[in-house]
Amino acid sequence: MQAAVYETVIGLEVHAQLLTKTKLFCADETNFGAEPNTHISPVTLGYPGTLPVLNKQAVRLAVKMGLACHSEIENWNYFARKNYFYPDLPKGYQISQHTTPICKGGYVNIPGNEGNKPILLNRIHLEEDAGKSIHDQDDDFTSLDFNRAGVPLIELVTEPCLNSADEAVAFLTNFRRLLRYLEICDGNMEQGSLRCDANVSIRKAGETALGTKVEIKNLNSIRNVKRAIEFEVSRMQELADKNETIVQQTRSFDAVTGTTFSMRSKEEANDYRYFPDPDLPPFEVTTELLKSIEASIPALPEELISRYMEKYNLSRYDAEVITDDKETAAYFEALIQYTPFYKAAANWLLGPVKSHLNDRSISIAAFQLKPAVLASLIALVEEGRVHFSTASSRLFPQLVSGAATDPLQLAVSLNLIQTGDETQILEWVKQAMEKMPDKVLEYKKGKKGLLGLFVGEVKKLSQGKADPQLTNQLLIQKLEK
Ligand code: ADP
Ligand code: MG
Repeated sequence: MQAAVYETVIGLEVHAQLLTKTKLFCADETNFGAEPNTHISPVTLGYPGTLPVLNKQAVRLAVKMGLACHSEIENWNYFARKNYFYPDLPKGYQISQHTTPICKGGYVNIPGNEGNKPILLNRIHLEEDAGKSIHDQDDDFTSLDFNRAGVPLIELVTEPCLNSADEAVAFLTNFRRLLRYLEICDGNMEQGSLRCDANVSIRKAGETALGTKVEIKNLNSIRNVKRAIEFEVSRMQELADKNETIVQQTRSFDAVTGTTFSMRSKEEANDYRYFPDPDLPPFEVTTELLKSIEASIPALPEELISRYMEKYNLSRYDAEVITDDKETAAYFEALIQYTPFYKAAANWLLGPVKSHLNDRSISIAAFQLKPAVLASLIALVEEGRVHFSTASSRLFPQLVSGAATDPLQLAVSLNLIQTGDETQILEWVKQAMEKMPDKVLEYKKGKKGLLGLFVGEVKKLSQGKADPQLTNQLLIQKLEK
């Protein structure tokens, strides 16, 4: 019997903590890592008689994300109570949105086989976070920290239209990049400000009905999203091959073993008894507000990538690396204000600048070298006055450290300006040949590959100052004689 061919279907539910100073319905602070239970006003703790007041900045951020994802923005919104009991949910309900999410539909592109593949969104809605239950603090008790209770979240739900673990990774990568570009969320999965649940099912290739899904919770890195989906898909395929039923379940991922295990089987849908929160009046997203949010959206990675490729002739790879984070893209933008050598600017940024930052484990935001100064250094190289390796190994470090500020002056003072002086270069050529008479013989016998060795020697003798083209010419002349 031929083995069945399966198709994987994935839908993601992603929670992102919004970068507001205060909570969704009160003035408690939201910063991560504060002493437990220090940001817990009576509103957060759900004391009787307290009233929630909506944080407008959270609304702006949710709308901003929706616009960046091409969603339709709901003008009339209300909050609903989602009722369930949980120790870290002080009110006994979570304030969320129900029938009218603030953003409907939309998509986020990922690279597909032919061009982009749009990953369709079902919705993005606003809701408050719960507190945190801590189980490993005490042998006998569960500890509760309510600092996180009431922190604003957006929850994004995709349609079941991702077809592999790699697509899920690409989606999350692009989604997180958008969050960071727009300063909506810091995207830190380890600290829990970005959290992902993956819904996974398989079906025989060609079938259109969806298979039974399993929801995997507790995925705290993009790598673990990939590992969990891959494990789950192979588990499901084995079951299907043996004609066993796949049970609808909520599963958890164990990052140590790389496996998933069942937390609970979902027999029927939870009844959350949603109803509109009577303490919160409906709120309107006016055309005026929409316009002002729209105007605050900067150029996003996709747009930047095509601009860099079309206008500046960069490769897709270079354009993607440069736009990977907003700060690098901003530095590149500043740099090309000062130089027409776009490709060289990209190479410098991804070469010497990047390794400098990596060596010191600092981000480009902390990089001291002014774009205008780097641009003059690039010009020295591109105009053939200083060799690239000399510029990057000798000039660049001094400029970065602030020991010098003018690349040209520095190159002159260190005597590193390339020379096209033929007599001078001939002298170095002669010295190089005298140093390796046996190699000269081998060359003359036909081992032309040795040319590079002589070029290297002249470079060394001249401390990188000999014009490379002229060096080549003169070397060939002398060696072939
Ligand atoms: P639930 O009511 O169980 O929360 P939803 O219909 O709200 O289910 O969908 C939740 C998520 O699960 C969405 O991201 C959706 O795309 C995804 N999903 C739904 N059905 C499937 C399926 N059969 N296989 C994979 N993902 C699915
Ligand atoms: Mg759900």
